[in-house]
Parts: sequence; C-alpha cells; structure tokens
Amino acid sequence: MAVLITDICINCGACIDECPVEAIVDDEDNPTGEETYYVYPDKCVECVGYHDTPACAEACPTEGCIVWDKCYEGMPCREDIPADARESHQPVIE
Ligand code: SF4
Ligand code: SF4
Repeated sequence: MAVLITDICINCGACIDECPVEAIVDDEDNPTGEETYYVYPDKCVECVGYHDTPACAEACPTEGCIVWDKCYEGMPCREDIPADARESHQPVIE
C-alpha cells in the first residue's frame, strides 16, 4: 500500500512530520529527481494502525496532490480502498 505525491506538490513541507513511519522525503532527497516531496512506497502504510485517514493527505494544503497509488506485494492493504480508486489516481482527500 502507498500513497503517491503528484507533481502539483508545492514543497510546503506540511506533510513530512505527520508521517508515523517516516516514509516521506523532501524534494532534495526525492530519488526520482522530481522537484517535489516523495513517498517511499515500501515504507508507507497508508497510516493503517495510526490514523483513520492518511495523515499526510490531511495535512496537505494542495487539493488533490496526494493520491492513492496501489497495493504492494507483501504489505498490508487498506481494505476499503477499491482498486479503481487506486488505478485512477483519485485524490486521497478531496
Ligand atoms: S499515508 Fe501515512 S504512512 Fe503513508 S506517507 Fe502518508 S503519513 Fe506516511
Ligand atoms: S503537504 Fe502536500 S504540497 Fe506540501 S510538501 Fe507535502 S505533498 Fe507537497
């Protein structure tokens, strides 16, 4: 499971300290080279066990910036997120 930060991220930093598993890095540490914040999909647990909704998306001021990515093999998966929501990159928080 993981959320994905899209290219409309404004690098405000509001999300990074909200992550309970330190899955988020800033633009300088983004391994893709994009000038946005980045969520490591192998670390993100979609806040399951910590919060009812992804804390990063709750904190993010940029509407539609943080979207569902997909389930990852060997990781727990939030059951109430339908596959089509993941595939379509719908915003996590409207
Ligand atoms: S959804 Fe939760 S665990 Fe995943 S990056 Fe956001 S704050 Fe971290
Ligand atoms: S809170 Fe949203 S806009 Fe701000 S750095 Fe994080 S993903 Fe980017």
